[in-house]
Amino acid sequence: MRDQNIPMPEPLEEYRKKRDFRKTPEPQGKAGIKLEHPLFVIQMHQASKLHYDLRLEVGDILKSWAVPKGPSLDPSSKRLAVPTEDHPLEYADFEGIIPEGEYGAGTVMIWDRGSYENLSEEGQSMEEAVREGHVKVALHGTKLKGGFALIRTGGGDRWLLIKMNDDAADPAWEPEGKPISAVTGRTMEEIADEEG
Ligand code: MN
Repeated sequence: MRDQNIPMPEPLEEYRKKRDFRKTPEPQGKAGIKLEHPLFVIQMHQASKLHYDLRLEVGDILKSWAVPKGPSLDPSSKRLAVPTEDHPLEYADFEGIIPEGEYGAGTVMIWDRGSYENLSEEGQSMEEAVREGHVKVALHGTKLKGGFALIRTGGGDRWLLIKMNDDAADPAWEPEGKPISAVTGRTMEEIADEEG
């Protein structure tokens, strides 16, 4: 049991602490979002290093992992996924530029988005699945479909994102060379030009 004297951490505290909302157009997390729930989003993020941010709606926030190589549709390919701070739900609608000097400076594209289903064992909530480091979901995105497992390995902050072997598995699939936004159809260059 949690000691009554220790305040519950405000889930978005770390998120807000890292950002200056006078400078970044990213959402503060005070409004809702009109999308099919529960939602997932994968944002392609050209920061100092290109990576993909996978976010799953859990409770009233987005649980987040940075996937350096992005997802694979090959069930034999295990992709490293490093947990990052919880993000507000409205972040699923963010595509644009994080200004120079701000945390995560660079271009953000909504690479894929949609709803998901919890495929975890009978009765297990997403909160429990995340806590136990054993998440299974079916994604209904525009690019990604079908089952994915997110498994915490060892004791630390190392997770693996693995495609489950189903109809949507495809060992030959490669991420597009010049991907476009699942929401606006823009390339990274177009987002940078229009929002920069
Ligand atoms: Mn990122």
